Amino acid sequence: MRLAAGALAVALLAAGCARPADDPWVPTPPQALLWDMFFQEILVEVDHAPGRELPRAALDGAIAELRTLTKREVRLGSVREIAGHDPDPSREWSLDELLALSHATRDDPASAEGYGSGRSAILHVLALDGTVRADRPLRGYALENVAAVFPDEHARIQPLGRAHPSFALDVQQTLTHEMGHTVGLVGCGVPMVRPRSDGGCHSTSEESVMYAWHDRLGSTLELVQPGSQPLRFDADDRADIAAYLELGKRCAVDPGCGAPRGTTGL
Ligand SMILES: [Zn+2]
Repeated sequence: MRLAAGALAVALLAAGCARPADDPWVPTPPQALLWDMFFQEILVEVDHAPGRELPRAALDGAIAELRTLTKREVRLGSVREIAGHDPDPSREWSLDELLALSHATRDDPASAEGYGSGRSAILHVLALDGTVRADRPLRGYALENVAAVFPDEHARIQPLGRAHPSFALDVQQTLTHEMGHTVGLVGCGVPMVRPRSDGGCHSTSEESVMYAWHDRLGSTLELVQPGSQPLRFDADDRADIAAYLELGKRCAVDPGCGAPRGTTGL
């Protein structure tokens, strides 16, 4: 049976159809972003509030790091300003508002129903005014396949201003961190090869880009020294993703591989 299923999957892949139409498997966001059985690349779409565009160096740096981590094709798609949106620096976005905005602003309306369309899984970056509603102001937040970044918060804690190189590096760190959440790092979607979670999807290592940096806003020193922020995923992150990619290959030919299935999306 397993051999027959494997042969079928290979035949479908060869025909350019990665996912049989009658396959009931609903992928979790990390599965959609990482496994070839669902999509063949990660397309990063960016929508920003007026005046909150992300430094291009920050975008390019985070995308390059995600490409290194996932060993997948990761490319930048459209970068657009959100039309008709009046920015408010004091705004606090609810999670429902973030998801609704993501669905309303994606290029391909079909992708709003799931995590991508065609061969591309969508990782949607929102750069917004204000911050997200939480117990403290946050510089970023990730939800499903959405990575939200809040440049107003970076500016608020950046004494040298938006033009200083440290601002772009700080945004890059946040963006990389949030992308790490979308692909399920630190036990939140992707199992850990070496346990290191603080219990909240963050690493206990202060050297990790997946450390909960919002806990350290009291120190401005690290924010004004370009190069002091961790911008790379670490060996533990890479080991987790490598193991998960292998699991994806097994699940492509064996639906009984034991991986969880999502409850929303495709
Ligand atoms: Zn985080």
